[in-house]
Amino acid sequence: MKPLRPRQAEIIAVGSELLTPFRVDTNSLWLTERLNALGIEVAVKMVVGDDESLLERLVREALARSEVIILTGGLGPTEDDVTRKALSRALSRPLVLDEQVLERLRERFRSRGLVMPKINERQALVLEGAIVLENRHGTAPGMFLEQAGRVLICLPGPPPEMQAMFESEVVPLLEPFAGDLKIRRRTLRVAGLSESAVDQAIAPIYTQYANPQTTILATTSGIEIHLTASGATDEEIEERLDELSDRIEQVLGARVFTTRGESLEEVIGRLCITKRYTIAVAESVTGGLIAKRLTDVPGSSHYFRGGITAYSDAAKCALLGIPADLLAAHGAVSAEVAEAMARGVKHQLGATIGLAVTGIAGPEGGTSEKPVGVVFVGLADDVHVESHRQWFPGDRARIRELAAQAALALLYERLL
Ligand code: ATP
Ligand code: MG
Repeated sequence: MKPLRPRQAEIIAVGSELLTPFRVDTNSLWLTERLNALGIEVAVKMVVGDDESLLERLVREALARSEVIILTGGLGPTEDDVTRKALSRALSRPLVLDEQVLERLRERFRSRGLVMPKINERQALVLEGAIVLENRHGTAPGMFLEQAGRVLICLPGPPPEMQAMFESEVVPLLEPFAGDLKIRRRTLRVAGLSESAVDQAIAPIYTQYANPQTTILATTSGIEIHLTASGATDEEIEERLDELSDRIEQVLGARVFTTRGESLEEVIGRLCITKRYTIAVAESVTGGLIAKRLTDVPGSSHYFRGGITAYSDAAKCALLGIPADLLAAHGAVSAEVAEAMARGVKHQLGATIGLAVTGIAGPEGGTSEKPVGVVFVGLADDVHVESHRQWFPGDRARIRELAAQAALALLYERLL
């Protein structure tokens, strides 16, 4: 029996701007995830400028290697949009004017009260024998072409156009070419544990599995456990992912706050709504980051009362009601002040829970007792108040992000 295997694909991102520091090729990242789900593995990715003969050569090489070639970009009406001509030469297929596409282009301009510029006619040129893919969000149509057992797909550069076209036009055409080994990923997000603690807890489990493969990734919004599984059918893959994901969740418990791609602030929002809790935040070192993350969630005004960003001692006294002698006795970066800030903001804004953070983001201001990266997070509710000293490595931006994450992780634990 022939071993199951995914099909091999190559992605070519076309556009000189993608070779500069100002634009990054994100299309290939999005496409990879979607192709993997169809049993198509990305073996090679390329970024090439608007260079017709170079692109022609790269397409020839890709066709010699791989079964599926996807190009994005360079389909516009201007002289520097070279994808069409390069493909025509690489495949030895003429470009022909598609009357239907031309009429659709004209109509698009007409509907906006404009006359189509002559140069846009170029966008109605398609490779002979190609299936034309409609672009509902822009002018450049895409193409799908089969030649000698290879599939070549040409998509517009702007991500919204590319994504919409892939979903509605490409997937149905590509499904018959799907590999017999599909790949899917699941991400478990963890709050309140370090990367090494997560690994120590779950390595005895995941090392028993070659499929799914497990990778652990530390991000500034928590630890992520990525499971990548392959199989012949979606059901088989889901079963594999369920089994390992369940075993990991048994060990880590509620610290795994999602297996469905939600953010910590979204999960917190849901918990606040079910438990009818309201939140207020006092921020020193994070300058509003916690409030920003909480309010990224639509509907957060139902449970988020507000935030107070208090940096100077005077602001902490005036806005949060912290006694000046407490600040003088312990310093602004201390367990006592973190707790007083949490209690203060809870009281000032009339919330069920007050959350606070104070720390030293650097690069200056550290001492041997409280070095740069020291952060105190505090939480107060009606019956208790607590605080925790933590230390985070990295530069100013990273320390602030990790401090915000730590505060949200503490809030999440309290909400459970
Ligand atoms: P248009 O008709 O808009 O010119 P096009 O197919 O010629 O369409 P490009 O000119 O190559 O597309 O790209 C248009 C814009 O789309 C670029 O300025 C860039 O912002 C974005 N873009 C192009 N390729 C990519 C990519 N691989 N990843 C992310 N963004 C991209
Ligand atoms: Mg263009």
